[in-house]
Order: sequence, then C-alpha cells, then structure tokens
Amino acid sequence: MKDIKYNWTRQEVLDIYNKPMMELLYEAATIHREFHNPNHVQVSTLLSIKTGGCPEDCGYCPQAARYHTDIEGNDLMSVQHVKAQALRAKASGSSRVCMGAAWRNVKDGEEFDQVLEMVRTINKLDMEVCCTLGMITENQAKRLAEAGLYAYNHNLDTSEDYYKDVISTRAYQDRLDTIDNVRKTNVTVCSGGIIGMGEKLEDRAGMLVALATLNPQPESVPINALVAVEGTPMEDIEPVSIWEMIRMVATTRIVMPQTQVRLSAGRTEMSREGQAMCFFAGANSIFAGDKLLTTPNPDVNEDMEMFNLLGLEPQKPFVKKAQPETVEAEASKYQPLGEKPKWSRPEHTIERNEEAKQKAKASE
Ligand code: SF4
Repeated sequence: MKDIKYNWTRQEVLDIYNKPMMELLYEAATIHREFHNPNHVQVSTLLSIKTGGCPEDCGYCPQAARYHTDIEGNDLMSVQHVKAQALRAKASGSSRVCMGAAWRNVKDGEEFDQVLEMVRTINKLDMEVCCTLGMITENQAKRLAEAGLYAYNHNLDTSEDYYKDVISTRAYQDRLDTIDNVRKTNVTVCSGGIIGMGEKLEDRAGMLVALATLNPQPESVPINALVAVEGTPMEDIEPVSIWEMIRMVATTRIVMPQTQVRLSAGRTEMSREGQAMCFFAGANSIFAGDKLLTTPNPDVNEDMEMFNLLGLEPQKPFVKKAQPETVEAEASKYQPLGEKPKWSRPEHTIERNEEAKQKAKASE
C-alpha cells in the first residue's frame, strides 16, 4: 500500500489539480481502490440542534445573526427530539449523525451538558456520533470523547490567506488549535472546506496543504460547493462547475488517501452523472436528508435510488475505527472547568460582510 505523504507543497497540489482530467481521474480512482472499498459510501445525517443567531460573520453562512436571511432560529433541541431524529436516520441507512450548533465556541454549562447527553444517547444506538459546535478546549474535547463522540467537525473552509476575506471574527490558528485539542483524545477529526467562494485555485490547494500536512491527516474531509444564500455577503456568487468539484474531490483523494472524502453542500445542483464522477474520483461519503443545516439537499429516497443505480452500498458504522465506550455523566473523570479561552477576534474589515450587515440593518 502506498505510503502516506505529509510534506505536500502548494505547487505539488496545484500540479495534481491541473492534470488532464482523464489522468487525474485514473490516478485518484487507483488510489481510492487501494485504500477503500469503492462500492461503499458512508452516509451521514446532519442535524441542526441549535439554529441561527450565531455571533460569527462567516461570509457564506445564513446562520450569522448579523445578516438578513430567511432562517428560522431555534433553541437547543431536546435529547428526546434528537434521539427520534437519529432513529429515523438509522432506519434510512445513515451510519452517522452529525449534530451542528451555531455557536462560536462551546461554553461549559447546562447546554453543553445537554449535548453530552445527546452524544451518549446516539452512541448507545450504535451509530457514529459527530459534533460541530465551534471552538473547543482540550477539557471539552475530553468530555465529548468520554461521552462516546466518534468525530468532531471543524472546517478550515479555505486557505489561510483567503480566510481573512471570509471571516473576521476569528483566525485560522483558532481552527488549528481546536483540531489540536480534538487530537488529544480518541475522537476522529473531520475538517474540510468550501469551494466557489471567490477563492483562487491556489487557495483550494492551500487548504488541502493545510489539511494534508497534519499528521495524522483528518479521518474525514467534507468538500462543499458554496450554496449562495440571499442576504449573505456571498449571495451573488455564481455556482462552481461540476468539473471543479470533480477536480477538488480527486485531488483530495490523492493527497489524503485514507480519508473519507465527503460530498457535502451543493449536491442539489449536481446531476447524478456528476455525482457518479465524484464517487469515481474518490468521494466515499455523503450527507443524507433533505436539509444540510439550513440549505437544501437531495431527498434520502433519491439518494438510495442513485445508490441502486450505481451499485453502491451504505457503509456500516465503526468500520474504520471501533465504537467508543460511553461513560455516564455521574462516572465522568472530567469536571467542567469554566475556562474562558482567549479565542482571537481579528475584527478586520471585510467589505462584502460589512455591506451585507448594513443591508440587514436597513431592512429591520
Ligand atoms: S458557519 Fe458556523 S460559526 Fe460561521 S456564522 Fe455559520 S454557524 Fe456561525
């Protein structure tokens, strides 16, 4: 089996991305077969457990409180509600539930305790549990791990250079620090990004270098295509072509051979033929369910029809790593520390973010 390379340079990644398409596909598909069963696709269900009202200013996100979008916010879901949704997801073929909360960072307290209970509940359903809750400390990562968390998602979104044109309320290093905190536990890392935000090819390559030079590399890498939502700073950006998505998936597969590469937001814009090319190029995971947090996603039945057509099978849970044990709250080794970490606030001005904020104010 091919050795994993960790010292990728931007130029090397760009050279792969820009290969003639047939060579790129052949190389990616060959590596894919070496490391994975090409007919197995891991299916995750994404559940927004706390929607909207986020204090961050991510230029692509309709959940940022400062922009005027149609999102209906909600408070943290109950554990029972989450359990019911997880059971539905399991019945429709998902092996993983990913719970997303629109928070800047996790704060110790009742709400985090409730999330820990959700993690315990889903792990006991024998499903992989993933959370995406914003920045977390080492102690919080350990508490999540102890509850039975399988994966933590924290996307780098794009290159470090372009990050400054997308988000002003936190810095790239904060993301890397959170990933580092997760790595101090047994929880696997899920981290990827978005293409089609106006970035250059160098930025796509820069993001892949940032991920592929982590040792170990993230166990899963979601590749999203921007879904431009009205009211966000990126509302007028044209969608990326399927060919760019295929190139990005294939390049990700080549530079991170062991990773599960996940086709994430933007699938509603892709034809079945386009998605099939992405699977051929090494994608081996999707998000199921008609909504991805707040943006549309193909219906589960449509996905199962596509799987039948292509002879794909949903991957069983815990194939790549054993199921973690769940420690009950009363038996926990870790106490909430009530830390107030100094996550950064660069607060530089991003013109399009400012404009969207002013537009939202004017429409109040
Ligand atoms: S992407 Fe996450 S952190 Fe950024 S505004 Fe949206 S919910 Fe908040």
